[in-house]
Amino acid sequence: MKSLWNDADAAQHAGPLGPRVYSSRLLGRDKSLVLHGGGNTSVKLREKNLFGEEQDVLYVKGSGWDLESIEAAGFTPVDLAYVRRLAGLPALSDPQMVNELNTHMLRAGAPAPSVETLLHAVLPHAYVDHTHADVVLSVSNAPRGAERIRALYGDRVVIIPYVMPGFDLAAYCARALRDEAGPKTIGMVLLSHGMFSFGADARESYERMIELVSIAEDELARQQAWAVRLPEARPGSVARQTLAELRGAVSAVAGAPMILRRNAGPKFLAFAQHPEVARLSQQGPATPDHVIRTKPLPMLGTDVAAFGTQYTAYFERHAPQAKDAKTMLDTAPRMLLDREIGFVAIGRTAKDAAIVEDLYDHTIDVILRAEALGGWRAVSERDLFEIEYWDLEQAKLRRSGAAPAFTGEVALVTGAASGIGRACVDAFLRRGAAVVALDRSAAIAETANRPDLLGLQCDVTDPQALARALDDGVERFGGIDMLVLNAGVFPATQPVAEVSQDAWRTAMSVNVEANLHLLQLSHPLLKHAPRSGRVVVIGSKNVIAPGPGAAAYSASKAALNQLARVTALEWASDGIRINALHPDAVYDTGLWTDALLASRAKAYGMSVEQYRRKNLLGTEVTSRDVAELAAEMCGPLFAKTTAAQVPIDGGNARVV
Ligand SMILES: [Zn+2]
Repeated sequence: MKSLWNDADAAQHAGPLGPRVYSSRLLGRDKSLVLHGGGNTSVKLREKNLFGEEQDVLYVKGSGWDLESIEAAGFTPVDLAYVRRLAGLPALSDPQMVNELNTHMLRAGAPAPSVETLLHAVLPHAYVDHTHADVVLSVSNAPRGAERIRALYGDRVVIIPYVMPGFDLAAYCARALRDEAGPKTIGMVLLSHGMFSFGADARESYERMIELVSIAEDELARQQAWAVRLPEARPGSVARQTLAELRGAVSAVAGAPMILRRNAGPKFLAFAQHPEVARLSQQGPATPDHVIRTKPLPMLGTDVAAFGTQYTAYFERHAPQAKDAKTMLDTAPRMLLDREIGFVAIGRTAKDAAIVEDLYDHTIDVILRAEALGGWRAVSERDLFEIEYWDLEQAKLRRSGAAPAFTGEVALVTGAASGIGRACVDAFLRRGAAVVALDRSAAIAETANRPDLLGLQCDVTDPQALARALDDGVERFGGIDMLVLNAGVFPATQPVAEVSQDAWRTAMSVNVEANLHLLQLSHPLLKHAPRSGRVVVIGSKNVIAPGPGAAAYSASKAALNQLARVTALEWASDGIRINALHPDAVYDTGLWTDALLASRAKAYGMSVEQYRRKNLLGTEVTSRDVAELAAEMCGPLFAKTTAAQVPIDGGNARVV
């Protein structure tokens, strides 16, 4: 591992916290050091208070910040002298510790300081860096881990056995450091947990971390344990409907819709097919704090009920020995390994599932390298339980606040690259849904740089392309709960006598047949939606009030409308609702250029502004207005409504 330190870049970060921010980000950039909120850093600064008195302040990473993107505001200042006194108490309960830290912050509104704040405080050095480096975990979780670490580092590190984070760990480290540290000591290895380094300045502390981690990397290479070796994977396969059923079962046990993210890439598939997968996967995570996102063990196979029984037994084995009463979390798995399916990460949101996948990606490396050193073993089940049911960890999850309405659900939108479709994507994302966005434009694939949005280029008139898109959507999110049939074409204006066969067929193909195919393909998925399936049809004012010259368009939209009504009749017994909305005069879409608007306005003897508001209410209807209604039609407001047709046109005399 190489130091990424660069003086010119470091200089970009001004202020007393600048170097701390810079080197924290360098650590955060390397996923083999810290992952998703893992790890923490601190600096001790001497500052003047309002009375001109000097005071020692500990700035420590606040919870909710990732090292990779942390800013000065992400470091919480606490009164160092006070926190050190706390660490010297004979005992301190977790709630007391949290109360003391929160009442000794020096900036109102700062994030809650890390649960490892006391540990940072007791270390005498100005800069302290803490990671959960993969390679250190591989060595320390192999047989004779402590001896190996000792042989590797000598007196450059103090070795700390596994102790749960918080007051006890800080007190233990303070004692060990006082008794064991020598002039060469530059860090601490916390067995089965991670690595600390420290130094007088940001660069020294950071580069010591890199040096210590590199030593473990070199050792793994010497022991032929660096390259992660897996047997060749046999291709696996699973029908999308089977995945959707599995998601239904998981969501039922979890008590809320869940996102399932499948990974059948060579590494995950080969691990799922490993002859010893049961032994390797059923011990625990690479470092205990993963457990709040992953639960202690992945589910092997697809028996969700059996997993729940095992999880309940685990809870009942350990809860009676806990200091205070514990309430069992839901018993649904957060990870699945299966020979055919590969790996599935499970989360309340698409982001949570993506994080679980990342954590396990690194866990596989840690496990297999420890295995190459003689045999992987995790911390005890008891230790895992204590972290999983530790109030401070549970509080991290609770802080996320009330979940948006569509959290854990999946919407599929067609014609999603522009206009109403694009606005629908935004409306569903804002409500917490994961979105599969289809469009025939290649631009759609580039919009999707976030875990809850999958943009797929797809010609909806090609049934095979639609099937592939559904496969991809279900692989990424586990199912489809809501469908927005938006893609459509408006052929050039032609009187009936001159309608070309081409224009007619195109309108019927895109506006009707493609939607029929999509409905047919989606039905088995919608049936397994945890909160029942919902379909929204983006219709048209022309269904009710057709215009001259728009025969192909009006006829096709009317046919789609009738299709939706019959679908509502047939699918009600599956709990699936299908409603239509009929927009008119939505001018902020790709169809309407400024020139076209100007020419239409002129034809009516109006200004563009007047033309935009040419409806009973004299109001402008935007793509966003339509999208908000489409999203609401999938929500609780319309829970008892199916086969409705709602105009969204500012009022039209021919429609009322
Ligand atoms: Zn840690």
